Amino acid sequence: MTARANQIKDYLGGLFGAEDEVLLAVKKNAKEAGLPNIHVSSTVGKLLYCLAMIHRPLKVLEIGTLAGYSAIWLARALPPEGKIISLECYPEHAALARKNIAFAGFENRVEVREGMAGDLMEQMIQKGEGPFDMVFIDADKENYLLYLDKAIQLSRPGTLILGDNLIPKEDELHPHYSEPKVIYRFNQQLATDKRLESILVPTLRNNGRIDALGIAIVK
Ligand code: SAH
Ligand code: MG
Repeated sequence: MTARANQIKDYLGGLFGAEDEVLLAVKKNAKEAGLPNIHVSSTVGKLLYCLAMIHRPLKVLEIGTLAGYSAIWLARALPPEGKIISLECYPEHAALARKNIAFAGFENRVEVREGMAGDLMEQMIQKGEGPFDMVFIDADKENYLLYLDKAIQLSRPGTLILGDNLIPKEDELHPHYSEPKVIYRFNQQLATDKRLESILVPTLRNNGRIDALGIAIVK
């Protein structure tokens, strides 16, 4: 199963998710700085890129920057006047992401904002910084429902809200873990929230594990 999934991931990645030297350097820099290899896979990066090409957002909000890998995929799909705000709570991650984003040529288009995402989103709501055309949720799973609620408040009809990692690890199905319960509640919310029209698209992680990307359109 895992061997087959890994084969498929490499097959799809080779055909559709080719990484250029910039994306490879971003991952290498992240590894050298000791950051975890939890960037979206290259095919999910390509999927984000394609969704942005179709949807043509001018204002994108990302929750969870890490080293800037997914932000760079998204930035590449934006028109010149497009802007991304990416939220990150760890100063070391934010600092490396800013370096990587500048290396990719997007320092004027991607702003990495430091702090707890829930607080930063609340500030954005208070200041009327929305609406965003696209929101990508990819941070601490415990707060996914909170992020969804705030993302909807920062949206307009037609905004695309994306959520990464919506299928938990098998060993996390154990009731000992709180994360999967939150993810299942999040998926339930996506499926039933009257303000959204949603679908989960199965994806493969870097380690070949089956995962899913949630795509919700705000009505
Ligand atoms: N989107 C990235 C991966 C993000 S990994 C990519 O695919 O390239 C998740 C990131 O969210 C980590 O860098 C972590 O530090 C950050 N994070 C976790 N909890 C957070 C919080 N409460 N507020 C802001 N960022 C958070
Ligand atoms: Mg992720």
